[in-house]
Amino acid sequence: MGTLKLSRQALIHNLDIIAHHIGDRDKIAVVLKDNAYGHGATLIAGACREYGIGHAVVRLEREALEIEEFFEDILILADVPTCTNPKFQYVINSLDTINKFPATTKVELKIDTGMHRNGIGIDEIEKAFEMMSAQQLECIGVMSHLRSADTLSSEYFWQRHTFDGLKPRVEALSQQYGWTPRFHLSNSAGVFRAAHCDDDIVRVGIALYGCLEMDISLQQPFLKPVLSLWGDKISTRVLKKGERVGYNGIYTAMCDEIISTYDMGYANGLDRLASNRYSTPQAVELRGRISMDSAAFSSDLDELLIFNDANKYAKAVGTIGYEILACLDKDLKREWIIE
Ligand SMILES: *Cc1c(COP(=O)(O)O)cnc(C)c1O
Repeated sequence: MGTLKLSRQALIHNLDIIAHHIGDRDKIAVVLKDNAYGHGATLIAGACREYGIGHAVVRLEREALEIEEFFEDILILADVPTCTNPKFQYVINSLDTINKFPATTKVELKIDTGMHRNGIGIDEIEKAFEMMSAQQLECIGVMSHLRSADTLSSEYFWQRHTFDGLKPRVEALSQQYGWTPRFHLSNSAGVFRAAHCDDDIVRVGIALYGCLEMDISLQQPFLKPVLSLWGDKISTRVLKKGERVGYNGIYTAMCDEIISTYDMGYANGLDRLASNRYSTPQAVELRGRISMDSAAFSSDLDELLIFNDANKYAKAVGTIGYEILACLDKDLKREWIIE
């Protein structure tokens, strides 16, 4: 199977850029959900720990268990506790789930400030505090999520304004209940939309991995993609002029051409929509349909770089880098490159 190579230097570069922009590396919470956006959760967690990052964010409790040793606290976005762990804190996404959290669970309250995906309504805050208290939970955070920070529009500003406007109200309530929650709103794009950071933490995912793509007219930080995807050659042949390769023979050789198949297919995360219309960073053309476990390229290299920037592969497919990364096969070999 192919190999996924990771650059520690790129990861550190990205962390430096993020830390410099917000002015405080202790505020960085690294988002490692979905196998660290396909990069490999424990590998990225270890490198972040070495850098001195103390906070992490995942989707599920089982993901938190996998990286527990590396962090001081781990925010779990969408799960309920099945174990007791003082490092874990669980997001409350709606009022009707509050009774699923056992007494003394550390929780963070998510407020819907306009995305309308998860979170309690602004008019439910008092009720939520009352319910969390009745359930004997410990509220250690109040958060929200931005829906459009990467696009050129005023949406970022009204969501920021709404969230900031809630702080005094939430602080007064917290005092009443004896809690001192941390406040946080920004994802990667939100970090770079703001000139400074007044929140207690920022939740950075895609920027950490070097694949943040802001609207062209917004200022884009110089980040480096951490991951590159490589295929190992299975076989080579000469495709004679007029011959066609792969399922349904959608590519016809215009002249005699050397092609090889590599051990990466759509089962490994190579989206099939890139069939016959993708060119690698070294200008090697993808030929014909991508199969389940292999794909043909106009090359005879033993090891072929398939992509080193998920956003570019995503363009050939009509999606975003996030999806390409998150869909990378968990079983692919993952290793740090020597640099
Ligand atoms: C995934 C996620 C993030 C990270 O978003 P990026 O755009 O990758 O930085 C932050 N917060 C929440 C709630 C998320 O679900």
